[in-house]
Amino acid sequence: RKGNVVITGASSGLGLATAKALAESGRWNVVMACRDFLKAEKAAKSVGMPKDNYTIMHLDLASLDSVRQFIGNFRRSGMPLDVLVCNAAVYFPTAGEPTYTADGFEMSVGVNHLGHFFLARELIDDMVRSDYHSRRLIIVGSITGNTNTLAGNIPPKAYLGDLRGLSGGLKETAGSPMIDGGKFDGAKAYKDSKVCNMLMMQEFHRRFHEETGITFASLYPGCIATTGLFREHIGLFRTLFPPFQKYITKGFVSEEDAGKRLAQVVDDPSLTKSGVYWSWNKHSASFENQLSEEASDAQKARKVWDLSEKLVGLA
Ligand code: NDP
Repeated sequence: RKGNVVITGASSGLGLATAKALAESGRWNVVMACRDFLKAEKAAKSVGMPKDNYTIMHLDLASLDSVRQFIGNFRRSGMPLDVLVCNAAVYFPTAGEPTYTADGFEMSVGVNHLGHFFLARELIDDMVRSDYHSRRLIIVGSITGNTNTLAGNIPPKAYLGDLRGLSGGLKETAGSPMIDGGKFDGAKAYKDSKVCNMLMMQEFHRRFHEETGITFASLYPGCIATTGLFREHIGLFRTLFPPFQKYITKGFVSEEDAGKRLAQVVDDPSLTKSGVYWSWNKHSASFENQLSEEASDAQKARKVWDLSEKLVGLA
């Protein structure tokens, strides 16, 4: 049978390119889990995805209720869940003030980490029941959360500290919207959320891999300087960033090629190792990359897991 893969945020950028690559392979039914149904429909049509190979389902990661509804709808569809790709993200580098999810969490960490954590934590049970030959949970990471890289050292750097803001639920009223309890900084909140994504991938691996056989993986697909992620950035940045990445840092990757990389992590029989953070070298060959000290801190991972379970109502 065809595999069923759920991809969050498949209405643009990396998620859409991955959905297209997998749908075109003919081996997958792609469930595009998107906050804007019509946009997703138009996007799928505009890139020519074969219509028998995808389904669109509503999912707004900025609301735990919406995540619950998505899970209910997915289960009612009767499809087994073989692969889950946590890809959606928001990034507010120029915001002066934080915004909040329906449950009152600062938006970047609320969507990128907590929404996905709740979704993945619940859907693990579904993946356990699937009889597919290679079940995988993939959480998209980023170089920007990795302070052991050049890009990860551009301030403000990711830093989760003692998690005091997270334990207060990322609410201004309970202390701070930032995980480390500091002053709001949109760029840092995004990087912190990506560190959480990479920590959670490893914690899932430690808790579930041996018992379930599921592969847990993260990746840095390269700098896709053209995606909507940079839509909130100032105009000059948006004009200069793609050529900067292309010609100066040479980290630039097209949306299509980045989509093929993520599709490999979903589908390639040679990428089944669990607990790995994949990257690609300049010849586009995949390799197991190292994470920064904080992004591989097992003790911190456990604490983030426990606090996150409390915040999303699982503990
Ligand atoms: P895009 O902004 O193009 O895509 C983000 C997707 O997330 C969109 O489909 C968006 O939906 C969706 N989304 C945002 N908020 C929500 C929500 N509340 N509920 C459901 N979906 C939501 O960015 P990219 O394709 O660049 O980003 C994809 C992933 O790649 C992210 O995890 C990002 O961190 C990662 N990444 C990107 C890099 C880059 O250089 N671009 C580098 C490294 C990692 P909508 O279409 O409705 O806006």
